[in-house]
Amino acid sequence: MTMTLASFFKTHIFTLDILITLVAVLLLVLLSLRKKALTLPAACTASVMMLCICICSGYGEVLFLILSYLIIVAVDTLFRKQAEDKVRDVHKKSGARGVIQILANGSVAVLCTVLYAITRDAAFLLAYIMGVSEACADSLASDIGVLSKKKPVSILTFKRIDTGISGGVSLLGLASSLTGCIVMSGIALLCMDIPLRLCVFAILTAVPFLGMLIDSVLGASVQAKFRCCVCGKNTEKDTHCGVQTEHVGGLRFMDNSLVNLVTNLITVIIGFAAVKFLL
Ligand SMILES: [Zn+2]
Repeated sequence: MTMTLASFFKTHIFTLDILITLVAVLLLVLLSLRKKALTLPAACTASVMMLCICICSGYGEVLFLILSYLIIVAVDTLFRKQAEDKVRDVHKKSGARGVIQILANGSVAVLCTVLYAITRDAAFLLAYIMGVSEACADSLASDIGVLSKKKPVSILTFKRIDTGISGGVSLLGLASSLTGCIVMSGIALLCMDIPLRLCVFAILTAVPFLGMLIDSVLGASVQAKFRCCVCGKNTEKDTHCGVQTEHVGGLRFMDNSLVNLVTNLITVIIGFAAVKFLL
């Protein structure tokens, strides 16, 4: 037992991969805290997840995750002030991301690499990329989309709705999310050991974009919607103007984080199937 454990540590824990990841994670945590992108518990959660991904797959996968995260933080830093002013009344959570948001956006990705470690099926790594890209594309769509001059339209009814309400799409949001998907596919091909083929690139781009659209559909349909009894504003918050808001649509327990988690899972399943059937 001691021998097995010792050899496990030798081969898995103290490799160059882990060392590179540890340094990268440390820098990332410091940056996130400085930029107020993550709360301290969220940064710790993210660090554990990245180490898990590194142990299960390799530092290429972690590097891909880090670069995608840096894109989100950069966009967040550039536009957050303007975006927050527009959606402060609507969004349940604004400001630094908490543990729940990290778990909602990252646990499916971790699951993919764990399944890869068990099965050594590369389709799980491609599914991992698509899951991460979808979370990134969704984040870009909301962060940049809310800056659109025109009000967004509901993805289900095509009627104009208030900025920041889930299920709303704008041309600016769609364009930024598609750009994000393309950039992420490029980064994945650079960071990871993936065959450089057009169909691989197409799947890695199309599936996350589709996932982002599914997120909007779920946001418009099953996500909980509330209205303030005092000022009449539509919101995702349970309280507004100091009083309890009224539940006016969707499933009460289905908040934005849960929608993100479900969407991420659906994206990864579609991605895995696409890799199995199309490649
Ligand atoms: Zn109100």
